[in-house]
Amino acid sequence: HIRSSHPTFQAAKVSSWSANDKSKLVREVLRMVNDQDRNPYSKVLRTGSATRGTVTDAYKDEEQEAIIWTTNLYLGLNRDKEVIAEAGKALQQFGSGMGTSAAASGMTDLHVTFEKEFAGLVGKPSACLFPTGYTANVGAVAGLLGRNDVVVIDQLCHASIVDGARLCGAAIRTFRHNSASDLEAVLKSEVSPYRTVLVVLEGVYSMGEGAAPVADIVRTAKAYGALVLVDEAHSFGFYGEGGAGICAAQGVTEEVDFIMTTLSKALGSLGGVVAARKDHIDLLKSSSRAYIFQASVSPADMAAALTALRRLREDDKLRERLWDTTRYMRRRFTEAGYDLGTGDGPIVTPHFSDKDTLYAIVQGMYKRGVQTSAVTYPIVENGRGRLRLICSSAHTRDDVDKTLDALIAAEHEVRAQKPSESSRNT
Ligand code: PMP
Repeated sequence: HIRSSHPTFQAAKVSSWSANDKSKLVREVLRMVNDQDRNPYSKVLRTGSATRGTVTDAYKDEEQEAIIWTTNLYLGLNRDKEVIAEAGKALQQFGSGMGTSAAASGMTDLHVTFEKEFAGLVGKPSACLFPTGYTANVGAVAGLLGRNDVVVIDQLCHASIVDGARLCGAAIRTFRHNSASDLEAVLKSEVSPYRTVLVVLEGVYSMGEGAAPVADIVRTAKAYGALVLVDEAHSFGFYGEGGAGICAAQGVTEEVDFIMTTLSKALGSLGGVVAARKDHIDLLKSSSRAYIFQASVSPADMAAALTALRRLREDDKLRERLWDTTRYMRRRFTEAGYDLGTGDGPIVTPHFSDKDTLYAIVQGMYKRGVQTSAVTYPIVENGRGRLRLICSSAHTRDDVDKTLDALIAAEHEVRAQKPSESSRNT
């Protein structure tokens, strides 16, 4: 072990929930997935691009043209002509699958080049690819730590981080969301020269916030000699120069030991990657079971991710379009009276005080050609809800206007059926 000088049901908080909380959550999820009118995840894309297309409902065979706000394809690179052409060439050149893990010869030039260029962009010497973002977190945390170690995670961190910690048997501690002072209190009681302490946080969380105070948290972690891993799944590609991410934007690339992202969001492909110092990456490649015992990313996915990486590094317009749509949506929805909370990122989440009204609004919007989702307990307080709209460079101002019209019309319809209730958050 090394030593160094925390829909949509993804909260690490689960580890500290009571049995009552957990059974409430399970009942709520079962009610939702068994209720055709409330299940936001039952939609199937027939043709189109995951930001706009022909959608059907898995329960009903009716097609619907929809503007889609439920995917994390922040830069729309999944439909980029060059990305698609390069993926096609790789399919011809290497075939469809690698058939083995990266550790056991499942690498092409594309894989090696991606690792180098990703590391270069985020400002680290070396990188290690995994087949998904989920397994990158599981593989990194479980590969770095053992039973005697401690992982200290922001209470809203993704499930993959919690699962990696559970797998390696390290003690799991959480700190209050975005709180450097709470992290400090936890570290004071956990630091010992006989164990590795790994602090894990996200650059931007997926519930409509802005950038996390990464620099403050990193400084605190370093003052106690902890290692730090930052998950940039919702920030890589559109924060920092050339899309390098939040660590670059906040000037803490050096101090952060591991910079992780997924290839499935801004890069529009499939895979996960962790960048770090060469000896840390060598250690991961030799100790991470998710790296050694799992097939590597397919050649076409790899070529798509590599081409997308080059496109986002060089084309500021992609970012400008995303931020323009984000700002426009935030302004129009705020002017229309919706409470969006304090965030400024591309995930826009109008707050609602009644989750059942919100579910009905999501259905009403879908009828009007707009696919969104509802986020409810445990991500938000029980009974309340947030509509979630994930902006992409592939969306336009016209999409925003149509979406706001659909929301207002759906809300009027629902309120007309339940006149006594006010659904917005006040
Ligand atoms: N980390 C975070 C913060 C995420 O939001 C996600 C996906 N929702 C992942 C990791 C896992 O990435 P992937 O879906 O590409 O496996």
